Amino acid sequence: MSSTFPAIEADTETATALPWRNGFAQLGPSFSTRLQPTPVGTPYWVGRSDALVGELGLPAGWIDSAEALAALAGNAVLPGSEPLASVYSGHQFGVWAGQLGDGRAILLGEIDTPHGARELQLKGAGRTPYSRGGDGRAVLRSSIREFLCSEAMHGLGIPTTRALAIVGSDQPVRRETIETAAVVARTAPSFVRFGHFEHFAHSATDRTAELKTLADEVIDRHYPECRTSERFGGNAYAAFLDAVSERTAKLLAQWQAVGFCHGVMNTDNMSILGLTIDYGPFQFLDGFDPAHICNHSDTAGRYAFNQQPNVAYWNLHALAQALLPLIGDQELAVAALASYKTVFPEAYDARMREKLGLGGSAAGDRQLIDDALRLLAAERTDWTIFWRRLSDCGETGDTAPVRDLFIDRAGIDAWLPRWLAARNARAAMFPMRRVNPKFVLRNHLGQQTIEMAQRKDFSGVETLLNLLETPFDEHAGHETYAGFPPDWASTIEISCSS
Ligand code: AMP
Ligand code: MG
Repeated sequence: MSSTFPAIEADTETATALPWRNGFAQLGPSFSTRLQPTPVGTPYWVGRSDALVGELGLPAGWIDSAEALAALAGNAVLPGSEPLASVYSGHQFGVWAGQLGDGRAILLGEIDTPHGARELQLKGAGRTPYSRGGDGRAVLRSSIREFLCSEAMHGLGIPTTRALAIVGSDQPVRRETIETAAVVARTAPSFVRFGHFEHFAHSATDRTAELKTLADEVIDRHYPECRTSERFGGNAYAAFLDAVSERTAKLLAQWQAVGFCHGVMNTDNMSILGLTIDYGPFQFLDGFDPAHICNHSDTAGRYAFNQQPNVAYWNLHALAQALLPLIGDQELAVAALASYKTVFPEAYDARMREKLGLGGSAAGDRQLIDDALRLLAAERTDWTIFWRRLSDCGETGDTAPVRDLFIDRAGIDAWLPRWLAARNARAAMFPMRRVNPKFVLRNHLGQQTIEMAQRKDFSGVETLLNLLETPFDEHAGHETYAGFPPDWASTIEISCSS
C-alpha cells in the first residue's frame, strides 16, 4: 500500500522556483481538493522526454537534479505549486457512472513555458478523495505504455497530452499480480474532460453556476474566439460546443488514418481540447481488422476500431446535454453538434488522400480509398507496413514489396494501376513518407520494453522513444522495430487494469 507520509515541502530558500500559475486551483473548492501527493519508496528514473524538457523551458540542468526526481515522484512539493485533485464524472461504456476522478492524478499546477501555460500532472501519485477504493497508484507496465504513446502521438503530429518523465519505485502495487509502482509526469494546456462538465450538469442540486464558471474558464483560456463568434446568434456556449466538436472530429480522423484504437472512450477520457488523453488499453493496428477490439474488457466491442468515430459523436452528445443549461436552446445545441458530421468525413478523406499521396481531391478518390480498405480487410494486411511500402513505391515505382503483402494478387494488381494513374493525374503529389509512419508503438514493442524495464533495463524505453519521436524517418539499423509483429503479439491481452 502507499505510504501515508505527506510529501515534503521543498525548502523555499534553496528550491527551484518554476514559473507557477495555478489557474485551476483558483476556480475554488467545488472543482477540486487541495492535497499533497503521497511519496513513493526510493524513486528512480525510468525514462524522460528531453524534447519536452526543452519545450517547457525548464531551468538548465534542473531535470538532472535530485530535486526534479523527488518532485516528479511526488515526494517533494516545489514552492509555488498548489497540488490538487480535480473532480469529474462521466459515462463509462455508455452508462452514467457518477463521480469518477481524479482518483490517481494530481495536478501540481501550471507553469509558464515558451509555448504557453502548461499544466503539470502526476499520474499514480497516491490516493485522492475521488479514488473510490483504488490505491491511487499506477503500475510500471501501464506507465511505460502511456509515456511512450504520448510522445509517439506527438511525433505523429496527433494532438495529445504529453509525457515528461516516468519515475519508478520498487514499492509493490497489487493488480492481478503484484507489480511495482511508477509515476508519469504529464503535461497539457488543460486536463479538463467532457466529464468535468457532466459532473455539474448531472447533480441532484442545481449547479449551473459552477458549470458556467468552468465553461467560462475553458472558453476564456482556450477558446477565446467563441466570445466574439457571430455564429449561433452570438451564443458563446454553442460556439464552444461547435469548436469542441470540430477538434474532436479532426482528432478522430487522425486516429483512424494512423490505425490507433483508444480502447476506452468513456466521456471522462475525452479531452475538452480535442487531445488524445488517458492511454490505457490502446493499440495501433497490426493486421487491418476494421472491427478490431483492443480492450480485453470490452466484450461487446463498443470501442472497436470502426466504432470510434460514432462513439466520439455519442460522447459529444453527452457534452451537449451537459452544456444545455448554458446554451439554453436545444435546437442550438443540436446545430452546434452538426459540425462533427461534416468535419469528420472531410478530415478523414483528407487524411486518407494524404496517405495515398494525392494532393487536392478528385472524383473517384473515395472509391479508391474504399477499395484499398476492402483489400486490406480481406487479408488482414498489416496497416502500417502496407502504407509505408506504398509510400516507398510512390518514390521508387517498385510495386513488388506492396504486391508481396497479398496472397490474392488479382485484387492488388487491379488497384495499383488505378492508384498510380490517380497520382500521376495530380499536379501536387503529397510526400507519402511524411504521413505514413515507419514506426508505431505496436503492442509487442511495448511489451518487450516493459519486460526489460521490469528487469531494471531501461535502455529499451530510450531506444523506442527515439524512434517514435521521429516515426517518419528511416532510422537505419532499426528495421526490427518496423517489422511484422511476431505471432505471440496476437496473444497479448490489454485490459483496463493499470
Ligand atoms: P480510467 O478508466 O483508467 O480512465 O479510470 C477511471 C477513473 O478511475 C479515473 O478517474 C481514475 O482516476 C480512476 N482510477 C483508475 N485506477 C485507479 C487507482 N488505481 N486508484 C484510484 N483511482 C483509479
Ligand atoms: Mg481516465
